Amino acid sequence: MNKIIDGKMISEQIKNEVKEETARLKEQGVTVTLAVVQVGSDPASGVYVKNKKKACEYVGFESLSYELKEDTTQEELLTLIGELNEKKEVNGILVQLPLPEHINEDVIIKAITPAKDVDGFHPENVGYLSTGQKGFVSCTPAGVIELLKRSRISISGKECVVIGRSNIVGKPMAALLLREDATVTICHSRTQDLKAVTKRADILVAALGKPKFITKDYVKEGAVIIDVGIHRGADNKLCGDVDFEDVIDHISAITPVPGGVGPMTIAMLMRNCLESAKNKVPLIS
Ligand code: NAD
Repeated sequence: MNKIIDGKMISEQIKNEVKEETARLKEQGVTVTLAVVQVGSDPASGVYVKNKKKACEYVGFESLSYELKEDTTQEELLTLIGELNEKKEVNGILVQLPLPEHINEDVIIKAITPAKDVDGFHPENVGYLSTGQKGFVSCTPAGVIELLKRSRISISGKECVVIGRSNIVGKPMAALLLREDATVTICHSRTQDLKAVTKRADILVAALGKPKFITKDYVKEGAVIIDVGIHRGADNKLCGDVDFEDVIDHISAITPVPGGVGPMTIAMLMRNCLESAKNKVPLIS
């Protein structure tokens, strides 16, 4: 059996589905538009923004690009977000994080109207997720659920362990797995005896941000491993939070890095933006 969960292939499937629907909307006179805002010139953010714009082009969205100077004030950014909130033709607003230190990210996230918050970071959307209502869901964890479902890996009733409790990955990941009827445990930097907990997992999601940290000692025989981490090693190669070579003979399925979770994030962003244009706030199916 092929153990590799092919995120590249699944993300292309999703982008092609979005592309088809976008073309249908266009025939009805509806153009899907994503506004992408970047403050400063952080090189990593620059790459992410470029990839998001490329994906927009691929699926047939309009993308409006706002490249603001590093010294843009919080007030100036809030003014722009206010304008984008009002613009009828804008379906999604994405402010690339991290923002420069003089800007409060929480204030900016809250300023984006929840109906256009295609990143799913606004507290209103986070609240919808935790109460099981419709709303935008953070793209990376939403992508993980999609990877599992399209690989026919059942989640219901499974013991799932998420390592990491960030607002962007760990917490929404746990909420989504719970929504899929898993038994969910969240581990973090203060967890005592991490190995004892992770070894219980049928599905282990590693989102701790430590290169190759998870070896087979942390993994139950036959488990499914989702590796959210992305790191560039000294050899310039990408790796995840999981030591792929060490665990591969021990597990039943794994997302590789690159080509696993990474490509799903942008695919899910495209899907969220399409759903916004359809004026139907999405619930991950
Ligand atoms: P973060 O730094 O905000 O959070 C890391 C979490 O891991 C924290 O909650 C911390 O408590 C926990 N942690 C750290 N060390 C630990 C340890 N030794 N044992 C147990 N828990 C520990 O990171 P994040 O933003 O959630 O991202 C996590 C990783 O995922 C990073 O490598 C990041 O680059 C990657 N990421 C990938 C994508 C993608 O599209 N694939 C998207 C977002 C983040």
